[in-house]
Amino acid sequence: MRVPLLDLKPQYKSLKKELDDAIIRVAESQYFIMGPELAEMEKEFQQYLNVKHAWGVSSGTDALLLALMAFDIKPGDEVIVPTYSFFATAGVVSRLFATPVFVENDSVTFNIDPKDFERKITSKTKAVIPVHLFGQSAAMDEIMKIASAHNLYVIEDAAQAIGTQYKDGRFVGTIGHIGCFSFFPSKNLGGYGDGGLIVTNDDQLSEIIRIKRVHGGEPKYYHKVIGGNFRLDAIQAAVLRVKLPHLQSWSEKRQRNAKRYNQLFIEAGLAEETGKTKFDNKNKVLLPKAVYENSGVKNFHIYNQYKIRVEKRDALREFMTKHEIGTEIYYPVPFHLQECFADLGYKKGDFPISEFSANTSIALPIYPELTDEQLQYVVSTIKKFFDEN
Ligand SMILES: *Cc1c(COP(=O)(O)O)cnc(C)c1O
Repeated sequence: MRVPLLDLKPQYKSLKKELDDAIIRVAESQYFIMGPELAEMEKEFQQYLNVKHAWGVSSGTDALLLALMAFDIKPGDEVIVPTYSFFATAGVVSRLFATPVFVENDSVTFNIDPKDFERKITSKTKAVIPVHLFGQSAAMDEIMKIASAHNLYVIEDAAQAIGTQYKDGRFVGTIGHIGCFSFFPSKNLGGYGDGGLIVTNDDQLSEIIRIKRVHGGEPKYYHKVIGGNFRLDAIQAAVLRVKLPHLQSWSEKRQRNAKRYNQLFIEAGLAEETGKTKFDNKNKVLLPKAVYENSGVKNFHIYNQYKIRVEKRDALREFMTKHEIGTEIYYPVPFHLQECFADLGYKKGDFPISEFSANTSIALPIYPELTDEQLQYVVSTIKKFFDEN
């Protein structure tokens, strides 16, 4: 049986007519940049997320960059980011010649550890970027409290978490000062190319974002500030408008798959329960825990990724590939050990939890259209690996 890590074709098949029509509608209008399609899309996402302002942008990375530019982050400023995330979270800070300051992740959620965040604050710290990694909210109450005590901006990297709710019901991305989303095709809500969204409840910030999204000209060709070309194409907006109404049902299917995986691993005797952080004979596989599962909100975790941890991770991955099961390592190298950040002076051992995660985690297929046979095959293949190794 073949189980790809992600297969977007069944989703396309199920919405083909609407998606094709949306793209043709844009082609017929010949209105590709800004315009009504984008404005409608922004209104729909603004209403869905229950936030005051939403702006379509060119990518999740550009959403983060634009957020930092909106706060006028400059050389010499420090921005705190978790060391374990997708590269963009830290890359955007360095692109503005500011200094990313890395902090440890939580061993259960893989999200930023609020205590370490607080420890790393200096007089130069301007902002923090909590990431809602793999589709689960970071500990926002703690983060907002610390940030507000130190007058820091909070930019939420919700690239992997569109539709995720914090334990109080709010959508992630709408809790900090600015929230950033990605529509990269492999995210839970993917466009047909690059795309992103930036949201805020602050009128003044929204105005700065609006202007900086189009080079900073206001009125056009008159520049008080410098921005960039951070626009979202009309074709992407049209595609995303078709997909948004289906996001909830896709998230529920991902949750169903994750729950089923947990159950199958426990039945196979490979794990006792979710959220364990140490290997032993009864826990050869460490299962992810949805920490807000019992808070009563529907989208406590949207499983952009379902990550397990195993000791012989690389050998398992090879075994899975041989058995035609797609897997991925998110992410093999934390920021503090990346070559491009060597001049920041971090070393191996600085963030043991993140290093442990980088060395042991592996993502399994979790996309909505997976069949129960496929889920069973994935777990029985992993069982076979442990029987043979
Ligand atoms: C995907 C991702 C981004 C960047 O989004 P793009 O749209 O690919 O630029 C940023 N942060 C995280 C955590 C991501 O997963």
